[in-house]
Amino acid sequence: MTHAMSCKGIGVSFGKFRALNDVNLDFPAGRVTALIGPNGAGKTTLLNVLSGILTADRGQITVGGQDVTHMAPHRRAALGIARSFQIFTIFPEMTVLENVRFARQRKHLKVALPWQLAHRMSQTRRDAMAVLDRFGLADLAQTQAANLSHGKQRALELAIVVVNEPELLLLDEPLAGVGHSEMEEFSALVGEAIQGRTAILVEHNMDMVMGISDQIVVLLGGEVLAKGTPSDIRSDPRVRDAYLGE
Ligand code: ADP
Repeated sequence: MTHAMSCKGIGVSFGKFRALNDVNLDFPAGRVTALIGPNGAGKTTLLNVLSGILTADRGQITVGGQDVTHMAPHRRAALGIARSFQIFTIFPEMTVLENVRFARQRKHLKVALPWQLAHRMSQTRRDAMAVLDRFGLADLAQTQAANLSHGKQRALELAIVVVNEPELLLLDEPLAGVGHSEMEEFSALVGEAIQGRTAILVEHNMDMVMGISDQIVVLLGGEVLAKGTPSDIRSDPRVRDAYLGE
C-alpha cells in the first residue's frame, strides 16, 4: 500500500536563521509533488526533515497517519521511505549488478534465516536484473560502475533506490548534471522510478516539473508561497513574480 505523507507546522532554524517557518503540506498517496522556489527557499531543508536527516524544531510529520517526527532515517526507510543521495550511494569498484544486488540484499537478507539464504541470494539477483532491465542497464550489468557514463550512473542511482520498491520516494534534483542530449531519456527514467509511488521531488527543470507533477509547492523564504496543480501554479502571478520570472 502506498502511504500519504503530511507535515504540520514545521519549523527549522539554523542559529537565528529560520530556514522553514510553519510549513503545512499534504503529499497525497501515489501522487507526485514537486518543491520549487529560488535558491535558499528551504527546499532541501524540507526534504531533509521529511527523510529524517534533520529533525524539525517544531511541527509534526506523519506517514500513513503514523507520527514519524522523531523517527531516525533508517527506521523511516524500514517504513518504505527512500531518499536518493545522488552518485555517492554507488560503489565505483563494484559492477552495476553488484551495486543493485547489494542494495537489495541489505534489506532482503537481513530478515532471512540461515537455510533461506541460498534461495534469497538468487532471488536478489533476479530482482536486481529485473530493475536493471527497467532502467536500461541490463547490457551493462557486468560493467564496473566507475566506468559508466554520467547519465548511466544517474540511471544506476535510480535503480538502487527503486530495487527495494519504496512506497515513498524523495528525490533531490534528479536531473541535476544530466546533459541536454540525455535529458529526455533520463526524464522518462525518473517517471518510471516514481510511477505509482508517493513522490516528492526538488527540481529546477520546469518542463519536467510541469509535466510530471500532480501538485506543485512553491517555497519562498522558508514559507509556502503557493501550492496547486501545474496550471494553477503557472497562472499564479505571485509565483511568476517571485520565481518563474515570466
Ligand atoms: P534550497 O534547497 O531551497 O536552495 P536550502 O534548504 O538548502 O534551500 O537552504 C535554506 C536556507 O537555509 C539557506 O539560506 C541556507 O543557507 C540555510 N541553510 C541550510 N542548511 C544549513 C545549515 N546546515 N546551517 C546553516 N544554514 C543552513
